[in-house]
Amino acid sequence: MPGRRTPCRPVPTELAALAAGVAPSTIRKWVSRGKITRYGTTSRAIFDLCELLRIAAERDGFPTADVCPDCATTPSE
Ligand SMILES: [Zn+2]
Repeated sequence: MPGRRTPCRPVPTELAALAAGVAPSTIRKWVSRGKITRYGTTSRAIFDLCELLRIAAERDGFPTADVCPDCATTPSE
């Protein structure tokens, strides 16, 4: 099965940054590091809100599984 191609909750860079509690420049840095997945086109970046919320939850010590049951990450299988 190929990797996820469609974000669960697509948001632009600014909203993704707000959700994660970081600056948009940090979002772009994470993309270049491969920390998060960038969707959308070359001219318009789209991110998965759920992915950003999980990163924020993990950082703040909250259970990441509670972020979104629709796309809860399952152990690699
Ligand atoms: Zn989701």
